[in-house]
Amino acid sequence: MNPLLNNINEYLVCSECQKEFESGMTDFGTLKEYSKIDAGFTNEGFQIWCRRHDHNVCYINFEGNELSTDLRCIIASSSD
Ligand SMILES: [Zn+2]
Repeated sequence: MNPLLNNINEYLVCSECQKEFESGMTDFGTLKEYSKIDAGFTNEGFQIWCRRHDHNVCYINFEGNELSTDLRCIIASSSD
């Protein structure tokens, strides 16, 4: 597995966004497009936040452990 490629196999979504999307009250084609989330580090861990509903989607507390983190990205060259 290359950690710099998209390896997500279970997307996290806001439960309120999911309800609204599934009820058909949006014009968005996919729930992924409808979602408006921020993701980032906190003092204790990592959080995903719904901007649309201004509430927590997921909070991971590292409990003081220093986890391996890779912030590099792969940018395809123009010849790819
Ligand atoms: Zn939401």
